[in-house]
Amino acid sequence: GVYADFAATTPMDKEIMEQMLEDSMEFGNPSSIHKVGKRAKAKLEHSRREAAGLLNAHPSEITFTSGATEANNLAIRGIVSRFDHPHIITTEIEHASVLNTYEALEEAAEVTYIPATDKGTVDTAALKAALREDTALVSVMLVNNETGVMQPIYEIGEILAEHGAKLHVDAVQAFGHVGIDVKELGVDLLTLSGHKIYGPKGIGVLYREKDVVLSPMITGGSHEKGRRSGTENSLFIGAMAAAMKKADAERTVRSIKEMQLKEKFLNNMTHAEIPFEVNGDVNQASSHIINIHFPWADSEFLLTALDMADIYVSGGSACSAGTVEPSHVLESMFGEDARVKKSVRFSFSHLMEEEDIDTITEALKDIYERLS
Ligand code: PMP
Repeated sequence: GVYADFAATTPMDKEIMEQMLEDSMEFGNPSSIHKVGKRAKAKLEHSRREAAGLLNAHPSEITFTSGATEANNLAIRGIVSRFDHPHIITTEIEHASVLNTYEALEEAAEVTYIPATDKGTVDTAALKAALREDTALVSVMLVNNETGVMQPIYEIGEILAEHGAKLHVDAVQAFGHVGIDVKELGVDLLTLSGHKIYGPKGIGVLYREKDVVLSPMITGGSHEKGRRSGTENSLFIGAMAAAMKKADAERTVRSIKEMQLKEKFLNNMTHAEIPFEVNGDVNQASSHIINIHFPWADSEFLLTALDMADIYVSGGSACSAGTVEPSHVLESMFGEDARVKKSVRFSFSHLMEEEDIDTITEALKDIYERLS
């Protein structure tokens, strides 16, 4: 079969897995004051320095969490709970871990949702117009997980420059594909996930600019400087740092390969005369994700037919608990248009071969011909 759903998750890197097996012998609790604990603590802080360095952050600005969902929750709830009914802004195209958190806070805060244009980018004019004196937080993702479209974070940073609102960026789909320097990006909070960069599931990073104060969501023994209590998952933290290091070192090589696969995919479909349109501006998209509108078939039918041909892709995001619901991202871009229900996301990896692309497009051609 061909797996082309790397935006949903990636397989674990073998080198990192082997390193984890070795590291697992070092079982100490980083909070213990004896030598075994101190060794674990030293390893943990080494991973933190590595993660920080790769983002151009200070180690004290890095908090390890159980994943990007928790990191996004901590960023958003950690800010909102410090204010009395603040105004907060996000976009209609965020991942569920941001969008549903904003929705859950609709009593504690006043929430504005900014739509995307049909190019797949957030409407920055609408964002500028929505900004108020009491706006405490703005959350906008860097790379959209359904369309791959890069969001205008620099421009949003400029809009917020003279304003006190904190800028929170979900960079889960960006890291390893797009260079990330938190200082240059001008963000206050930024989140990452291990399992999108060939690391383990259940580990994430929250970058928090040193002057940003967050209320913790999980209280206890004051681990992670009180921001996230609970004995640190040292093993996964080590693997996260290693995954970040490798993704960063191989970023250009990986992106070029992904780009070639994407181009081949589009060329193959054109040659095979399969009717399609790209959703979102392909020139502003990350190398690994492409969302395609097939006017001739419903998403659900296509996903099933492709699955039967052993080709594994997604409708929108896999994260919405296995259901095929119309994508909220495409709805924000296109409204009620039928195109929302006739689109499929393909996400590629440097691990794929050119022949995998041929297999996908041959299957698509087959399905198309059976229908017509
Ligand atoms: N944000 C985005 C953009 C994502 O794609 C995902 C993963 N589907 C998450 C957040 C959640 O990450 P995690 O699975 O680590 O909780």
